[in-house]
Amino acid sequence: MTLAIEYVRSRSASRLVGLFPVVKAATEALIDRCFNRGIPIVITQGLRTIAEQDSLYAQGRTKPGQIVTNARGGYSKHNFGMAIDFALLMPDGKSVSWDIKRDGNCDGIEDWGDVVSEAKALGFEWGGDWRSFKDYPHFEMTFSLSTADLRAGKLPTQAQINAAYTKVKGDDCEMTVEERAAFKSLQETVEAQAKRIATLEGNAKMAEIPTWAVDACVAAKRAGVLDTTAGGSYDFYRLITVMHRQGSFNVKGAV
Ligand SMILES: [Zn+2]
Repeated sequence: MTLAIEYVRSRSASRLVGLFPVVKAATEALIDRCFNRGIPIVITQGLRTIAEQDSLYAQGRTKPGQIVTNARGGYSKHNFGMAIDFALLMPDGKSVSWDIKRDGNCDGIEDWGDVVSEAKALGFEWGGDWRSFKDYPHFEMTFSLSTADLRAGKLPTQAQINAAYTKVKGDDCEMTVEERAAFKSLQETVEAQAKRIATLEGNAKMAEIPTWAVDACVAAKRAGVLDTTAGGSYDFYRLITVMHRQGSFNVKGAV
Protein backbone atom coordinates (compact mmCIF):
# COMPACT_ATOMS: atom_id res chain seq x y z
CA MET A 1 0.00 0.00 0.00
CA THR A 2 1.33 3.40 -0.92
CA LEU A 3 1.12 6.25 1.55
CA ALA A 4 -0.59 9.47 0.42
CA ILE A 5 1.58 12.57 0.12
CA GLU A 6 -0.76 14.57 2.39
CA TYR A 7 -0.26 11.97 5.10
CA VAL A 8 3.53 11.90 4.66
CA ARG A 9 3.65 15.71 4.87
CA SER A 10 1.46 15.71 7.97
CA ARG A 11 3.85 13.36 9.79
CA SER A 12 6.54 16.07 9.69
CA ALA A 13 4.45 19.24 9.99
CA SER A 14 5.02 19.87 13.71
CA ARG A 15 8.82 19.49 13.27
CA LEU A 16 8.90 22.23 10.65
CA VAL A 17 7.60 24.89 13.04
CA GLY A 18 10.24 27.49 13.85
CA LEU A 19 12.62 26.59 11.04
CA PHE A 20 14.31 29.45 9.21
CA PRO A 21 11.87 30.14 6.31
CA VAL A 22 14.04 29.03 3.40
CA VAL A 23 15.17 25.97 5.36
CA LYS A 24 11.50 25.15 5.95
CA ALA A 25 10.74 25.56 2.23
CA ALA A 26 13.70 23.32 1.35
CA THR A 27 12.55 20.71 3.86
CA GLU A 28 9.04 20.68 2.39
CA ALA A 29 10.56 20.27 -1.08
CA LEU A 30 12.78 17.45 0.22
CA ILE A 31 9.78 15.55 1.61
CA ASP A 32 7.96 15.90 -1.76
CA ARG A 33 10.95 15.06 -3.94
CA CYS A 34 11.79 11.95 -1.92
CA PHE A 35 8.13 10.91 -2.07
CA ASN A 36 8.27 11.29 -5.87
CA ARG A 37 11.15 8.80 -5.85
CA GLY A 38 9.12 6.35 -3.79
CA ILE A 39 10.85 7.22 -0.53
CA PRO A 40 8.56 8.58 2.21
CA ILE A 41 10.59 10.34 4.88
CA VAL A 42 9.77 11.91 8.21
CA ILE A 43 11.49 14.89 9.81
CA THR A 44 12.32 13.83 13.37
CA GLN A 45 13.97 17.05 14.52
CA GLY A 46 13.90 20.66 13.43
CA LEU A 47 14.30 23.64 15.71
CA ARG A 48 15.76 22.66 19.06
CA THR A 49 15.84 25.30 21.78
CA ILE A 50 19.07 26.00 23.59
CA ALA A 51 17.62 24.47 26.79
CA GLU A 52 16.69 21.31 24.87
CA GLN A 53 20.19 21.22 23.36
CA ASP A 54 21.77 21.55 26.83
CA SER A 55 19.62 18.69 28.06
CA LEU A 56 20.65 16.57 25.08
CA TYR A 57 24.31 17.44 25.65
CA ALA A 58 24.00 16.29 29.27
CA GLN A 59 22.86 12.87 28.08
CA GLY A 60 25.76 10.41 28.50
CA ARG A 61 27.71 13.02 30.45
CA THR A 62 25.89 14.23 33.56
CA LYS A 63 22.71 12.31 32.74
CA PRO A 64 22.23 8.62 31.91
CA GLY A 65 22.15 7.43 28.30
CA GLN A 66 24.43 7.43 25.28
CA ILE A 67 26.20 10.50 23.98
CA VAL A 68 24.24 11.70 20.97
CA THR A 69 25.71 15.15 20.36
CA ASN A 70 28.93 17.05 20.74
CA ALA A 71 27.15 20.37 20.72
CA ARG A 72 26.14 22.36 23.78
CA GLY A 73 23.21 24.74 23.69
CA GLY A 74 23.87 27.41 21.05
CA TYR A 75 26.48 25.28 19.27
CA SER A 76 24.15 23.36 16.97
CA LYS A 77 22.52 24.66 13.80
CA HIS A 78 19.31 23.14 15.17
CA ASN A 79 19.26 25.88 17.81
CA PHE A 80 18.82 28.46 15.05
CA GLY A 81 16.28 26.61 12.91
CA MET A 82 18.93 25.93 10.26
CA ALA A 83 19.06 22.13 10.60
CA ILE A 84 16.82 19.08 10.33
CA ASP A 85 17.13 15.36 11.06
CA PHE A 86 15.22 12.74 9.11
CA ALA A 87 14.33 9.08 9.15
CA LEU A 88 12.80 6.77 6.57
CA LEU A 89 9.06 6.32 7.02
CA MET A 90 8.00 2.68 6.73
CA PRO A 91 5.07 1.53 4.55
CA ASP A 92 2.87 1.14 7.66
CA GLY A 93 3.07 4.96 7.95
CA LYS A 94 3.99 4.74 11.63
CA SER A 95 7.37 3.13 12.20
CA VAL A 96 10.60 4.74 11.07
CA SER A 97 14.01 3.39 10.11
CA TRP A 98 17.59 4.66 10.28
CA ASP A 99 18.83 1.75 8.17
CA ILE A 100 21.13 3.47 5.68
CA LYS A 101 21.29 0.25 3.57
CA ARG A 102 17.52 -0.04 3.11
CA ASP A 103 16.24 -0.05 -0.50
CA GLY A 104 12.51 0.39 0.05
CA ASN A 105 11.74 1.57 -3.50
CA CYS A 106 13.74 -1.38 -4.92
CA ASP A 107 15.73 0.68 -7.44
CA GLY A 108 19.02 -0.93 -6.47
CA ILE A 109 20.18 2.24 -4.70
CA GLU A 110 20.00 2.74 -0.95
CA ASP A 111 17.11 5.10 -0.12
CA TRP A 112 19.36 6.96 2.30
CA GLY A 113 21.72 7.92 -0.53
CA ASP A 114 18.80 9.11 -2.65
CA VAL A 115 17.59 11.35 0.17
CA VAL A 116 21.10 12.73 0.65
CA SER A 117 21.47 13.60 -3.04
CA GLU A 118 18.05 15.29 -3.13
CA ALA A 119 18.95 17.26 0.00
CA LYS A 120 22.28 18.38 -1.43
CA ALA A 121 20.55 19.48 -4.65
CA LEU A 122 18.32 21.62 -2.43
CA GLY A 123 21.36 23.27 -0.86
CA PHE A 124 21.70 21.27 2.34
CA GLU A 125 24.99 20.10 3.80
CA TRP A 126 24.97 16.55 5.11
CA GLY A 127 26.17 15.45 8.56
CA GLY A 128 27.42 12.22 6.98
CA ASP A 129 30.18 14.23 5.28
CA TRP A 130 31.61 15.47 8.56
CA ARG A 131 35.06 14.12 9.37
CA SER A 132 34.48 13.61 13.07
CA PHE A 133 31.19 12.52 14.62
CA LYS A 134 29.36 11.60 11.42
CA ASP A 135 25.69 12.49 11.81
CA TYR A 136 23.90 10.55 9.07
CA PRO A 137 20.31 11.76 9.63
CA HIS A 138 21.36 15.44 9.80
CA PHE A 139 21.09 18.18 7.17
CA GLU A 140 21.81 21.87 7.64
CA MET A 141 22.11 25.09 5.72
CA THR A 142 25.13 27.09 6.80
CA PHE A 143 25.11 30.20 4.60
CA SER A 144 28.83 30.36 5.46
CA LEU A 145 27.89 31.22 9.03
CA SER A 146 29.38 29.45 12.05
CA THR A 147 27.34 28.83 15.17
CA ALA A 148 29.49 31.58 16.74
CA ASP A 149 28.18 33.95 14.05
CA LEU A 150 24.63 32.81 14.72
CA ARG A 151 25.06 33.20 18.51
CA ALA A 152 26.26 36.72 17.81
CA GLY A 153 22.99 37.33 15.95
CA LYS A 154 24.32 37.30 12.39
CA LEU A 155 21.87 36.24 9.73
CA PRO A 156 22.23 35.14 6.10
CA THR A 157 22.25 38.00 3.58
CA GLN A 158 19.24 38.54 1.34
CA ALA A 159 21.38 37.42 -1.63
CA GLN A 160 22.16 34.13 0.14
CA ILE A 161 18.50 33.64 0.97
CA ASN A 162 17.46 34.35 -2.63
CA ALA A 163 20.06 31.90 -3.93
CA ALA A 164 18.75 29.27 -1.53
CA TYR A 165 15.17 29.82 -2.72
CA THR A 166 16.31 29.42 -6.33
CA LYS A 167 17.62 25.95 -5.52
CA VAL A 168 14.41 25.05 -3.71
CA LYS A 169 12.24 26.09 -6.63
CA GLY A 170 14.51 24.09 -8.91
CA ASP A 171 14.09 24.12 -12.65
CA ASP A 172 10.57 24.45 -13.93
CA CYS A 173 10.63 20.90 -15.28
CA GLU A 174 10.38 19.51 -11.77
CA MET A 175 6.70 18.69 -11.18
CA THR A 176 5.04 18.80 -7.81
CA VAL A 177 3.13 15.77 -6.58
CA GLU A 178 -0.16 17.51 -7.49
CA GLU A 179 1.13 18.40 -10.95
CA ARG A 180 2.19 14.82 -11.57
CA ALA A 181 -1.28 13.56 -10.63
CA ALA A 182 -2.93 16.15 -12.89
CA PHE A 183 -0.54 15.30 -15.72
CA LYS A 184 -1.27 11.58 -15.40
CA SER A 185 -5.00 12.22 -15.53
CA LEU A 186 -4.51 14.40 -18.61
CA GLN A 187 -2.49 11.67 -20.31
CA GLU A 188 -5.28 9.17 -19.68
CA THR A 189 -7.84 11.57 -21.17
CA VAL A 190 -5.70 12.08 -24.27
CA GLU A 191 -5.24 8.32 -24.73
CA ALA A 192 -8.98 7.70 -24.39
CA GLN A 193 -9.73 10.44 -26.92
CA ALA A 194 -7.13 9.09 -29.34
CA LYS A 195 -8.91 5.71 -29.22
CA ARG A 196 -12.27 7.38 -29.85
CA ILE A 197 -10.90 9.32 -32.80
CA ALA A 198 -9.36 6.15 -34.26
CA THR A 199 -12.76 4.42 -33.98
CA LEU A 200 -14.53 7.37 -35.59
CA GLU A 201 -11.99 7.52 -38.42
CA GLY A 202 -12.32 3.78 -38.87
CA ASN A 203 -16.08 4.20 -39.16
CA ALA A 204 -15.73 7.05 -41.65
CA LYS A 205 -13.64 4.99 -44.07
CA MET A 206 -13.68 1.33 -43.26
CA ALA A 207 -10.68 -0.72 -44.33
CA GLU A 208 -12.87 -3.69 -45.22
CA ILE A 209 -16.49 -4.17 -46.16
CA PRO A 210 -18.29 -5.37 -43.01
CA THR A 211 -19.40 -9.01 -43.42
CA TRP A 212 -23.03 -8.04 -42.84
CA ALA A 213 -22.89 -5.70 -45.87
CA VAL A 214 -21.14 -8.01 -48.37
CA ASP A 215 -24.32 -9.42 -49.97
CA ALA A 216 -25.80 -5.95 -50.43
CA CYS A 217 -22.56 -4.65 -52.00
CA VAL A 218 -22.40 -7.56 -54.44
CA ALA A 219 -26.03 -6.93 -55.42
CA ALA A 220 -25.43 -3.21 -55.86
CA LYS A 221 -22.45 -3.79 -58.16
CA ARG A 222 -24.31 -6.43 -60.14
CA ALA A 223 -27.17 -3.99 -60.60
CA GLY A 224 -24.69 -1.44 -61.91
CA VAL A 225 -25.62 1.07 -59.21
CA LEU A 226 -22.06 1.29 -57.92
CA ASP A 227 -18.65 0.92 -59.51
CA THR A 228 -16.90 0.29 -56.26
CA THR A 229 -18.08 -0.60 -52.81
CA ALA A 230 -14.62 -0.40 -51.15
CA GLY A 231 -13.61 2.26 -48.62
CA GLY A 232 -17.12 3.31 -47.66
CA SER A 233 -18.19 4.60 -44.30
CA TYR A 234 -20.14 2.65 -41.71
CA ASP A 235 -23.27 4.65 -42.59
CA PHE A 236 -22.73 3.99 -46.33
CA TYR A 237 -22.75 0.23 -45.79
CA ARG A 238 -25.84 0.49 -43.60
CA LEU A 239 -27.66 2.41 -46.31
CA ILE A 240 -26.66 -0.10 -49.04
CA THR A 241 -27.87 -2.94 -46.79
CA VAL A 242 -31.25 -1.27 -46.16
CA MET A 243 -31.68 -0.57 -49.88
CA HIS A 244 -30.80 -4.18 -50.67
CA ARG A 245 -33.44 -5.40 -48.22
CA GLN A 246 -35.99 -3.16 -49.94
CA GLY A 247 -35.12 -4.79 -53.24
CA SER A 248 -33.52 -1.73 -54.84
CA PHE A 249 -30.79 -3.82 -56.52
CA ASN A 250 -32.97 -6.53 -57.96
CA VAL A 251 -31.97 -6.84 -61.59
CA LYS A 252 -34.97 -6.81 -63.88
CA GLY A 253 -35.47 -10.13 -65.54
CA ALA A 254 -33.27 -12.00 -63.10
CA VAL A 255 -35.15 -14.28 -60.79
ZN1 LIG B 1 20.71 17.08 13.52
